[in-house]
Amino acid sequence: MTYNKDVLGTQFTLELSSYALELISRVNDVSEAISLLLAKVGKQFSLSHITVLEKQRNLPCFMATYEWHTAENEPMRNHIITYTEELKEVFFERRDQSEELFTLQELKGMKEAKNIIPIIEQNKADNVILCALKQKEKFIGFLNIETRNGIDKFSEEEISAFLQTKRILENFFLVCRANQEAQRRIEQVTLFDPVTGLIKYDSFLEQAELIYKNDLNNQYILFYADINNFKYFNETYGYAAGDEVLRLFEQHFMSQSSRYMIGSRIFSDYFIGMTSLRGPIIERKLIQETQMLSYSFQKKIQSIYPESSIHIAAGVILIDNKNLDLQTYIDNANQARKIAKFNRINCVLFDKDMEAERKKYYRITSIAEEALKNNEFYFELQPKIDLRTKRIVGAEALARWARPDGTVVYPNEFIPIFEQNGFITKLDFYVYGKVCEYLLNRIRNGMEIVPISVNVSRVHLKQDNFAKKVIRLVEQYRIPPKYLEFELTENIFLENSEQAKKTLMELKKYDFKVSMDDFGSGFSSLNLLMNLEFDILKLDKDFLTDNIITKKEEVVIKSIIRMAKLMKMTVLCEGVETKEQVDFLERMQCDMVQGYYFGKPMKTELFEICMSS
Ligand code: C2E
Ligand code: MG
Ligand code: MG
Repeated sequence: MTYNKDVLGTQFTLELSSYALELISRVNDVSEAISLLLAKVGKQFSLSHITVLEKQRNLPCFMATYEWHTAENEPMRNHIITYTEELKEVFFERRDQSEELFTLQELKGMKEAKNIIPIIEQNKADNVILCALKQKEKFIGFLNIETRNGIDKFSEEEISAFLQTKRILENFFLVCRANQEAQRRIEQVTLFDPVTGLIKYDSFLEQAELIYKNDLNNQYILFYADINNFKYFNETYGYAAGDEVLRLFEQHFMSQSSRYMIGSRIFSDYFIGMTSLRGPIIERKLIQETQMLSYSFQKKIQSIYPESSIHIAAGVILIDNKNLDLQTYIDNANQARKIAKFNRINCVLFDKDMEAERKKYYRITSIAEEALKNNEFYFELQPKIDLRTKRIVGAEALARWARPDGTVVYPNEFIPIFEQNGFITKLDFYVYGKVCEYLLNRIRNGMEIVPISVNVSRVHLKQDNFAKKVIRLVEQYRIPPKYLEFELTENIFLENSEQAKKTLMELKKYDFKVSMDDFGSGFSSLNLLMNLEFDILKLDKDFLTDNIITKKEEVVIKSIIRMAKLMKMTVLCEGVETKEQVDFLERMQCDMVQGYYFGKPMKTELFEICMSS
């Protein structure tokens, strides 16, 4: 809208200028001056709203920072206008007219202003004027003026007063900025991550919360990522190189990709980002994009540090409805990240099933300690049978959880969760302790005993004192080590091979038996068998999926058994359920079996009855 400059010198505009000067000398704080100025203009022209929407530093959006409105009208405080380059062009870069004001009707016709319309319409104004606030060639915000008096046009006098208000505000902001600049220097030190320049996590939370609560029009994506093997990278290449990787991550994922409108490094190598969605969401595309970005980042680092092997694991979540609080979305994105990390993939999009999983995780982890104190955990024994004599020659202790309501929870429900939160190390030692107690009791009473095997979670191997701890335990109970056997799964050796090898040697040195559990269920490596001295090889139940064993399978099983025996290992086959399987394994000269055919895991009392019969 153009206006007639001749009317600028009207009575009220002059009055405004002297009022502004007076304000500046009278009030201590420019903010107060701005509020008083808005109130004066608002009252003078019987406006419903007069609002300053300021562009936010670090955020591509405008928020209402100062406003005056009549009592019967809602504040605009909670509105956010997303900043776009198009919007900037409309309000700022078209310099063909010396000043620009837009009425609601004009704005409605512009697709560039589509973010603004719903916000203004909410106020149900009859007449609206929006003008850009500029400062030193910069677009700093809007002055929004609204009336609800049934008149849909402002007079020229009114418009000139509004323009004068706008100019005074621009000057006020100049003063504000000078103060803020000093403040900003101080903030720079305290608010920003010195390594990446990103805002610190608490500021991120504050800003994200603000956007989340107030922007009802847009959908958002939350991204939570970490750099796997970063610790190892730091140790290998030094911390300066590590910092460089963090900076490159920021450039790659945050600033250069212009994807994430706010981002932060939570701590160490954990990053978070949030952005509004442009256009409809295509989930597959979102995952693909994140994967590509991760992949190109990994390649970039590898080109600088060829021996490095960092891996990005990212969890992404869509904030589509706002029924949950922001923290829940962050937790959910983090959970998706953990799944990505666990499966060594670059990106996982959070879904509802994961939410159920996470609830289960919290439910189970929150009651675990108490349950352990209340002796809700116990073990059952599953017999191991010598195939030649068909006698029980050992047993495996398997953890069970008896809930106070009488239900029994099986390990598949709780072990993976306890491995995540680390509680498994406590539970395992609890089980080992109970097994020792059981063995001691039988030894003291002169009863027959067979070796009992216990399972070792891979989590123990993250520390190097596992062997020492079990040795201390059996010494405390005075159990001959030959009665205790430790089952280690092959993934232990894949993840933490040096530590695992060392532990295995220590256990064997002390005379414990050590078995490789679930052989053939994962990425079995024959190398492992060659390099490590296991006493027993436990073939996974997957080897016996079918009752009809094909020729090929027969060849594989036969070769494994033969090879194991050449390496002086005893071979046990797990999950034996039928007579046919028993006969087959006998032919293959398998030494031992364990499975439902001979006995399910059972309470110790029942096991003793089986032993003596
Ligand atoms: P695992 O060590 O391979 O134990 C054998 C699993 O196979 C047991 O499941 C057992 O009940 C099941 N099984 C035995 N015979 C048969 C059969 O004939 N058919 C079929 N279908 N299944 C059979 P469970 O007790 O549910 O334990 C599952 C896994 O949880 C164990 O696999 C082990 O990895 C882990 N686990 C159990 N107790 C503990 C524990 O105290 N500590 C740790 N760290 N892990 C444990
Ligand atoms: Mg086992
Ligand atoms: Mg097993």
